[in-house]
Amino acid sequence: MVNSYSFDCTACGKCCNSPPAMSLRELFEHRDVFVGCIALGRMPRGADTPLHAFPVDEASAITIATLALDYPSLGRCSALAHDGLCGLHAKGKPDQCIAVPLDPLVPDHLQHAVLAQRSHGAGWIGAQCIRPGEHPGALLLRAGEIVDEEAKAAVQRRRHALGIERELWAAPLFDVLRRDFADPRRALAMLPSDGYRTIASVPALMGIGTLSTALARACIAYIDAQTALIHRNVAQAVQRRRLDDRPTTQTLRGFSDALQHARAHLRALPERTAASPLARDAEAWFLF
Ligand code: SF4
Ligand code: SF4
Repeated sequence: MVNSYSFDCTACGKCCNSPPAMSLRELFEHRDVFVGCIALGRMPRGADTPLHAFPVDEASAITIATLALDYPSLGRCSALAHDGLCGLHAKGKPDQCIAVPLDPLVPDHLQHAVLAQRSHGAGWIGAQCIRPGEHPGALLLRAGEIVDEEAKAAVQRRRHALGIERELWAAPLFDVLRRDFADPRRALAMLPSDGYRTIASVPALMGIGTLSTALARACIAYIDAQTALIHRNVAQAVQRRRLDDRPTTQTLRGFSDALQHARAHLRALPERTAASPLARDAEAWFLF
């Protein structure tokens, strides 16, 4: 089993074939570039249950995380510039991208399997940026340990963000699912066995926006930017006239409606300061 890998990115853009997963905080930061959503998925419970997973029963867990959504027909990340480079390079890429080709959701001792799979994965064909073995100046993983400092820091930041946001909005959302479905296994049954189901970011925004007036204002500003972006993306799709864009257009219009309802609710809330430790943590995390 190979557990040492080297990595040398030539910025070919091949792996930037869809928008990346990112924290809600990163979505706030890049609100004019990415339409954010919540992805609900299912996974088997195991010894290495990741930070975004919530146990349902002895065999299964529901995963809850934010990611960016765009038209699959575009076949590219919304931030990929026409010269093939990442348009966020100067402003700061999402940590998930800085960590590439590592997967922060996978424990360090299994990263070699991620690299083995990605070195032959469909989205990476021809890139040849991941090589087994130790190559001078390009070493990423040595004997199962991440040795590239930049990648290691990005992996840690991504995990840290998942841990914080788990407490701030994902765990409360899981509690709502549990309450609404009486038995979370019914919620599990609604999710595809492969892939995930996307919903608008509204439950997360309502969760944090109700904690204080400052957070409500931040969420409203985010909603306004997202609404404008959705309208721009939908208008471009209408011009493309592709049948396969229609489901995403429908999803985005649904997001837009849900965001407007959330906006009205947040605007109507009475003034309040961050009284609870959770509210203070949320202000420290989201108001930057
Ligand atoms: S496929 Fe490899 S070389 Fe190309 S941008 Fe992605 S990481 Fe870099
Ligand atoms: S944000 Fe940049 S690095 Fe990440 S997938 Fe998009 S273009 Fe690629």
